[in-house]
Amino acid sequence: MPVALALSPHLDDAVFSCGGTLATLADAGWRVVMATLFTASVPEPRGFALACQLDKGLGPEVDYMALRRAEDLEAAGILGVATEHLPFREAPHRGYASAQALFSETRADDAVVADLVPGLAALVGAVRPDLILAPQAIGGHVDHVQAVRALGQAAPAAPVLWWRDFPYTVRDAEPKQPLRPLFADRPVRTVALDPGAQLRKARACAAYATQIGFQFGGEAGLLDRLAREEGVERFRVSGPLPAGLPGRDAAP
Ligand SMILES: [Zn+2]
Repeated sequence: MPVALALSPHLDDAVFSCGGTLATLADAGWRVVMATLFTASVPEPRGFALACQLDKGLGPEVDYMALRRAEDLEAAGILGVATEHLPFREAPHRGYASAQALFSETRADDAVVADLVPGLAALVGAVRPDLILAPQAIGGHVDHVQAVRALGQAAPAAPVLWWRDFPYTVRDAEPKQPLRPLFADRPVRTVALDPGAQLRKARACAAYATQIGFQFGGEAGLLDRLAREEGVERFRVSGPLPAGLPGRDAAP
């Protein structure tokens, strides 16, 4: 059975950006592991980290990350994929102290890449993927950027489908693409989702209930935004893709 490993920075990114492809691979007989990197619970959050849960109506006593890990399990069940939750801390717990800082330059004192590299190497060694799916860091969230840097340093042998980070791809007319030079010359691959995969992707996205409000203004906004994607997920490609992979090569 071929194996695909999706490397999601946060609990929602892989589903938002390539959930239909993950469902399609699972339907085609692949074992799919959706691994999320930044999922650590941090007790007694303060400052901006605390504000990030208070503004979602979650009191300081709530284990916000535990809630989100549970949402991830529900989404994975809908798609038919397995999950892994890696124990790295999200950016608000690494010194990024404002919403603006999350989308600015990475901090010189943010050493998470050095921790992520062995974590990714161990994960790849355990899962032994034939295909990796990972973000392009479109939008420029520092956690996405650090994830791509770490994957570059871990340098696994498997080919990679680099996804477009939805909804950052559609939030601004010209989203930030700090790592664009890594991807601009790579071939493009598209996966056209059948109606069943599109429906499951939408249901799986909606499972991230704590995120849907501020990302999309609610579930209706999510469905409207997904509908405008027209059932297609687009990737940049590194390495020779496995034969029989769903999707087709496309013009850049
Ligand atoms: Zn994210």
